[in-house]
Amino acid sequence: MKTLDQIAAELQGYDPQALSAGQVLDFLSRLVAPVQDAVSLPLFEALGRVLAEDVVSPFDVPPHDNSAMDGFAFDGGRLVPGAALELRVAEGTALAGKAWQGSVQPGECVKIMTGAIMPPGLDTVVPQEFVKFHESADGTRISIPPGLLRAGDNRRLRGEDLAQGLPALRKGETLTPARLGLAASLGLPTLPVWRPLRVAYFSTGDEILSLGEAPREGAVYDSNRYTVFGMLSRLGCQVIDMGVVRDDPALLEAAFTEAAARADAIITSGGVSVGEADFTKAMMKKLGDVAFWRIAMRPGRPMAVGRIPPASGQAGNPNGAILFGLPGNPVAVMVTFLAFVRPALLQMMGAGAAPPPLLKARSTEAIRKKAGRTEYQRGWVSTAVDGSLQVKTTGSQGSGVLRSMAEANGLIVLHHAQGNVAVGDELDVLMFDGVI
Ligand code: AMP
Ligand code: MG
Repeated sequence: MKTLDQIAAELQGYDPQALSAGQVLDFLSRLVAPVQDAVSLPLFEALGRVLAEDVVSPFDVPPHDNSAMDGFAFDGGRLVPGAALELRVAEGTALAGKAWQGSVQPGECVKIMTGAIMPPGLDTVVPQEFVKFHESADGTRISIPPGLLRAGDNRRLRGEDLAQGLPALRKGETLTPARLGLAASLGLPTLPVWRPLRVAYFSTGDEILSLGEAPREGAVYDSNRYTVFGMLSRLGCQVIDMGVVRDDPALLEAAFTEAAARADAIITSGGVSVGEADFTKAMMKKLGDVAFWRIAMRPGRPMAVGRIPPASGQAGNPNGAILFGLPGNPVAVMVTFLAFVRPALLQMMGAGAAPPPLLKARSTEAIRKKAGRTEYQRGWVSTAVDGSLQVKTTGSQGSGVLRSMAEANGLIVLHHAQGNVAVGDELDVLMFDGVI
């Protein structure tokens, strides 16, 4: 386990007072480590969890060559270029789940349904709608017009989806609906996943009201509690909700040490800006190995990061819980969460996913932007009349204005070196897509 100073020494040009977004991500990826604690869960409980081991296919999928169409199975070797092929239809039908019993004579075909096992010796299926029927003395015959098929058409090969013994799913993959279905198709009732990350959250600040408290002049309701709860839940974390903690050293110390004993990570909001007259920063410094940063970004400049050990004699990770001390402003909380906390938590969850791809969309407006910091603007991406993607900002971009966040479907990322934006410029957008 490295101290913050050791990590800082590894980074080129580390200046806690002027970090770029890229440096923050680099620092955090060196600070956090996956929680290596696997459990086995039934499929219904495994959605959204991260696989702790490769899942190896216990058999070939599909287990037999089978038909991809309703039609007639035949020997593709009999096809002659430029000529129609006539075949006698054998008795019976090959059904999905009920193999055709019998042996095919030369010049015969077998009526077959989608998913049915290919009768021995037959490798090609002609879809029903391609054939002409006629009755003859020896029964029904079909005629396949020339030029429609090649040998092997409309047949799914044994093992073409998944070969026995090869990984069907990889360690570090998050279990999506498709991956759950794939695991089920392999007959696996349970899956090995990492235990959920436990993340404790509390808001700080004497002006913060909990819901249910009477309004008071100068006080605001605690919205960060709910945005953080929502973002952590979407990520599949176990949220330890600790409400609002008053600006009182004893209360803050008790909250931090309880969080460090119960959680893998602690998120706080408020009290990390320069010139804060509260005890939050002092308590972080007293209890743990914590750095206070100023990040070249907007919104969300101040942030505290570090590790807080559980109090002696208390349970918890002896290495300490990772601390993310976020600024207080509601949009700054969401942006710093999305940009920095989320990738770090995913790494702690053992998720190997690449960062989500940025979407390219043309700006419908000019945007002022200073080079030398990363700006995140709340945006709405839509389809223009010509079918291309366009993006506009959603109103006031003040770091406390949640309304423009609530109206957005993505964050426009104006990169560190980027300057002013003109109408029609192509911009990068980080889509929310149910993530936040
Ligand atoms: P701070 O980072 O503590 O200086 O807070 C910056 C601004 O965010 C102040 O206007 C606070 O009132 C506001 N703020 C801090 N915490 C919260 C919260 N939990 N919910 C809503 N607003 C908050
Ligand atoms: Mg404050």
